[in-house]
Amino acid sequence: MTSCLRICIGCCLALLSWKALAQDANDLIKGLLIEASWLQHQQAQPLKDSGYKQLVINIQSSPTDSQLRALQRLTEHDLEVWYWIEIARDEQMAAQHPEWMASIQGHPEWRRFHPNFPKETQGEVVKVFPWVPVFFEGAFEAHFEKVNDLLEQWPSAKGVFLNDLQGAPTACGCGHTLCRWTTDYGPKTTARNLGHTAPAQFIKRVMEAHPDMECIPVWATECEAHDKDGLCAGVGCYNGACWREWSKQLAPISQATTHLAALLTYKELQRDLDVYGTRAGWIPKAIDSFASESKRFNHPAVPPERLIGILQGWNTTPEEETAQIRHLEKSGTHGFILSKMPITSEWEPRILKMDGKPQ
Ligand SMILES: [Zn+2]
Ligand SMILES: [Zn+2]
Repeated sequence: MTSCLRICIGCCLALLSWKALAQDANDLIKGLLIEASWLQHQQAQPLKDSGYKQLVINIQSSPTDSQLRALQRLTEHDLEVWYWIEIARDEQMAAQHPEWMASIQGHPEWRRFHPNFPKETQGEVVKVFPWVPVFFEGAFEAHFEKVNDLLEQWPSAKGVFLNDLQGAPTACGCGHTLCRWTTDYGPKTTARNLGHTAPAQFIKRVMEAHPDMECIPVWATECEAHDKDGLCAGVGCYNGACWREWSKQLAPISQATTHLAALLTYKELQRDLDVYGTRAGWIPKAIDSFASESKRFNHPAVPPERLIGILQGWNTTPEEETAQIRHLEKSGTHGFILSKMPITSEWEPRILKMDGKPQ
């Protein structure tokens, strides 16, 4: 009885704190994501005139003097600075440690995109270049060092977005960019897997090292039922492992952070399909899946007010940007970041000898 009461009070407090998040319009995020190399040309006033409050900077190497001066100038105009760091998609790390790359095993449907790719032998495995997920022991440490070094080299900021903490595209071999629930769908492994809590452990490690910054994971959704006849090429992914493993990985992340970012770059992710009705009509569905798909597998729903939408602001018309923002604003989220730089999910197959030596 007492413990029930305690749990109930705990639930109420948790509910109240999520309610407290909802939602003073002035607190909502409205940010623009740019490359660090664009900093010198970025003016503050036009951004502020358009209602932008946050500037998110993609950092990949240490800052130059002119970038630091530009950053200083922008913060004087009251723009809040955040950073964006790409995790899994790392060409340099993939080249140095090909054994840490995710693999493509299981279904062969991905080969329709690479019809001339040679068949691997028993002593070989097909890797997903350049995807190096944090799930692998050595990669976890190397990515942490990368993030830590960057955050120490750049001036302090309000927070950091960490992109691609999941597995690699085409996880089961179906070829769908949004099937990324595993690192190895088969028996051939070349590194030790830390299990489904690895992304949450990674976030916690960064938060411990940088307690004064908000650390926000950027999370992609999985495939959908209608994809079976489309991008999943006949493989029954949606009713298979995809969302079950997705929700298992998301649940501990959701406990670790207040806000999460949802990757909603609908054109890049090939979600600009007629099946979604209106332009960018996939966006509300994707936001809803953080609640509905978590619940389908008995994990706590992640409600919209905890989500920050990452929208596509490259290769888009003004009408497409407006449509995305309109969907987003109606969905009750904690705001959005419009990315002006490409956030790519590209991959290509590479054969690796199982003894670790690249071919
Ligand atoms: Zn899938
Ligand atoms: Zn699939």
